[in-house]
Amino acid sequence: MVVKLNHFIDGKPVAGKGARYGDVFNPATGEVSSHVPLASAEEVAGAIAVAQRTLPDWAATPAAQRAQVLFAFRALIRSHMDELAELLSIEHGKTLADAKGSITRGLEVVEFACGIPHLLKGGYSEGVARNVDSYAVRQPVGVCAGITPFNFPAMVPMWMFPVAVACGNTFLLKPSEKDPSLPLRLAELMQEAGLPDGVLNVVNGDKEAVDELLTNPGVDAVSFVGSTPIGEYIYRTGTAHGKRVQALCGAKNHLVVMPDADVEQTIDALVGSAYGSAGERCMAVSVAVTVGDEVGDELVERLAPRVEALKLGPYNDPEAEMGPLVTREHLDKVRGYVDTGVKEGAKLVVDGRDVVLQGYENGFFIGGCLFDHVTPEMRIYKEEIFGPVLSVVRVKDYESAVQLVNDHEYGNGAAVFTRDGDTARNFANRVRIGMVGVNVPIPVPVAYHSFGGWKRSLFGAHSIHGTEGVHFYTRLKTITGRWPSGIREGAVFNFHSGSET
Ligand code: NAD
Repeated sequence: MVVKLNHFIDGKPVAGKGARYGDVFNPATGEVSSHVPLASAEEVAGAIAVAQRTLPDWAATPAAQRAQVLFAFRALIRSHMDELAELLSIEHGKTLADAKGSITRGLEVVEFACGIPHLLKGGYSEGVARNVDSYAVRQPVGVCAGITPFNFPAMVPMWMFPVAVACGNTFLLKPSEKDPSLPLRLAELMQEAGLPDGVLNVVNGDKEAVDELLTNPGVDAVSFVGSTPIGEYIYRTGTAHGKRVQALCGAKNHLVVMPDADVEQTIDALVGSAYGSAGERCMAVSVAVTVGDEVGDELVERLAPRVEALKLGPYNDPEAEMGPLVTREHLDKVRGYVDTGVKEGAKLVVDGRDVVLQGYENGFFIGGCLFDHVTPEMRIYKEEIFGPVLSVVRVKDYESAVQLVNDHEYGNGAAVFTRDGDTARNFANRVRIGMVGVNVPIPVPVAYHSFGGWKRSLFGAHSIHGTEGVHFYTRLKTITGRWPSGIREGAVFNFHSGSET
């Protein structure tokens, strides 16, 4: 029987009140595994009211006490790891090992947020003028919303809510409607960890729910992670309604292969980063830029058999290196891009379009695809495919490689593979990219640094988690006071500074 999922509001599961439901699939079999309620604007407004009502008490709870909930949550995640990974994989399709890895990356943000008393420590300046002291504090922004993508249903929500609630905010999570079960379970575990009712709420839904979060005056800040067209819409609509917004978006990540790169290491890096999680990662490498024709020839020749040999399988096959794509619609889109690449004249060296997995004929599987001789005006180069498709672009020299990276509209991640320190340093300094790898293909920053791209990969001033995350979820307040208050200075009409004698 197909189960009906709920929302999670005010500390308990809440059934959908409307008639609208979405299908959630097991992508390995193609079967519908559950129905997810798609909240109406009224249901979302009700959840916002809960978050508003809960805010004053939670914001006034001492930071060290708020951190206790996160310590307990951390322990619960670890003890439930197998259950969580299964719940994630069965709806997303990625392998269990990959699912566990992504939950662990989210857990690192929880660990970071456990240090919130230290992170919220402000500055104090004694004697900024005679008898005048100044101090700065960071206070919660208020009611925060998180709108998250399908590809990391644990990690991306955990980039957001642990930091937000640690800072004293209340939170509404609107997860992807494609794999909502894990985010719901995370909210239950936060509750079990001691979070008061109403601090973390999960509302399932689609555009209608999102639009209410973006326009309702009860929401103060919105974090979004997803594709660029939607992210741009979220940023424009949210800021037009007076909200603080950060929108982390799409990508086309280049890996530049210099002639002196270690070939074996580069090939391993490309196979893992282009085809891991079936390419459904915003930090997946989707373009290999080879500098000089010799490098291009050798790379493609040695890469092709590795791509052909990729082992596809359902999430619970321990041998599987790559699972299915998330939905049939997405599979059709990725196949369509490969068709386009062929029409555009790129050389399809490995064609995974018609791969069928025995026993999983209705699953959303596609084999690895490898294109050579891709050029910058092709759609398969310009657009994010979000599948297991790697394009090789050949350039004549290092300067052309830097130019190519900088000219692309996206600026999430890029890497250079080289043994030369000068090249590595020059690349890191000059590329207009938010996260740069030197002989590291997927340079995802650790939790105490911040994650975020440049150009059309991020809208808004803040990256996510780390210090930037704390700043996004707090407002700075600076207090200037005079003690003893009894000293009379008379009326002062001009600005004056403590440095004046
Ligand atoms: P998506 O943009 O389709 O959906 C993201 C969220 O927006 C979901 O919760 C969805 O319900 C909601 N949404 C979808 N259409 C909407 C609309 N018309 N109006 C309002 N809300 C809408 O993204 P996806 O397919 O779930 O995820 C893949 C994308 O996410 C890729 O582009 C990937 O690069 C990106 N991503 C980026 C990062 C990053 O940190 N930069 C991380 C992970 C994923």
